[in-house]
Amino acid sequence: MSIRLGTGDLARYPFLNEAGEYLRQSEFGWEELDRPDMADIIERAAERIQVGVSGKVYDRVERYETEILTFLVTLIMVKSIAMEPVLKKYALAEARRAEKFLTEDLKKQNEAQRRALLSKIFGDLFGLTIGTTEDGRLFKVKVTDYLARSSHFHEQEWKMINRLVSGGQVYLGPDETVRLVRNELAVLINSRVHAMSLPALPKAIKEKAEVLRIALAPHYEYTADAVTEYPPCVKHAMEVMNKGENLPHSARLMLATYMLAIGKPTDEIVKMFKNAPDFNERITRYQVEHLAGSKGSRTKYFVPSCDKLRTENLCFATKDCDGIINPTQFGRRRK
Ligand code: SF4
Repeated sequence: MSIRLGTGDLARYPFLNEAGEYLRQSEFGWEELDRPDMADIIERAAERIQVGVSGKVYDRVERYETEILTFLVTLIMVKSIAMEPVLKKYALAEARRAEKFLTEDLKKQNEAQRRALLSKIFGDLFGLTIGTTEDGRLFKVKVTDYLARSSHFHEQEWKMINRLVSGGQVYLGPDETVRLVRNELAVLINSRVHAMSLPALPKAIKEKAEVLRIALAPHYEYTADAVTEYPPCVKHAMEVMNKGENLPHSARLMLATYMLAIGKPTDEIVKMFKNAPDFNERITRYQVEHLAGSKGSRTKYFVPSCDKLRTENLCFATKDCDGIINPTQFGRRRK
């Protein structure tokens, strides 16, 4: 029996293959986006990108035709803006939007609709088989699939010891089940944008994308100071951050403590994290101040040793690191 999704599902999950199929069947052409009645779609798309890169979830939902087209136009615009940190933030925001809807749907939809979503999103897109308990309140995932995803999460609740496990399956609530694939959803959207080849853009999109690019550039084209004086581990972390890629927690800690140790002002350190896909200025500022010992426990954190960084795969030693035991010594010995 084939599993069918409703049109409401296509509005909430326009990245599904079925949404692309709808566009193909409707024989929609790019040039149609220049029609006056498409102006609203282009405005919505620009608003959705702006809300997304600001770290919020754009949660308006219209009819599925509107949503599928808006989603397509956002992809084109983000591609045309061509700023990797903007793409990363946008993709994460889209993943969070889908996460919100999916969590709600898994809680309230009937059994058949839930099975359709589990199959189309978790199964078809990510090769993940999710079962449900008889009362439909909990979801089950194979231990190996769970570990492959949860090992990237730092919170204690994701440790296996804190989970209900039985018969080789981990039991999860709806929100936890969806959280498991948030990163994969962001990667999926990101790779769709990368894989797109832009056609000659309709004028209306081109103009709107340029307005957005000019507005976003001062915030996201941040380049760090000349990084040649920094130790290779710090330099690497800054390069990853500047590309808008996700830096592990341990690398963020190393970067922030190093910058504090060499006397960088908090404002500048916070700015360095601006391209992180999950950047939140208030939280980042608090964390930097916490590491500096001016907030929270008032304990000042020191830069991890080279030995520790090696065990965390954060060391990228070159011959200039010869004999040092902490990144703060980099460059000093040679002098
Ligand atoms: S040896 Fe130390 S300073 Fe050099 S890259 Fe490794 S961790 Fe960084």
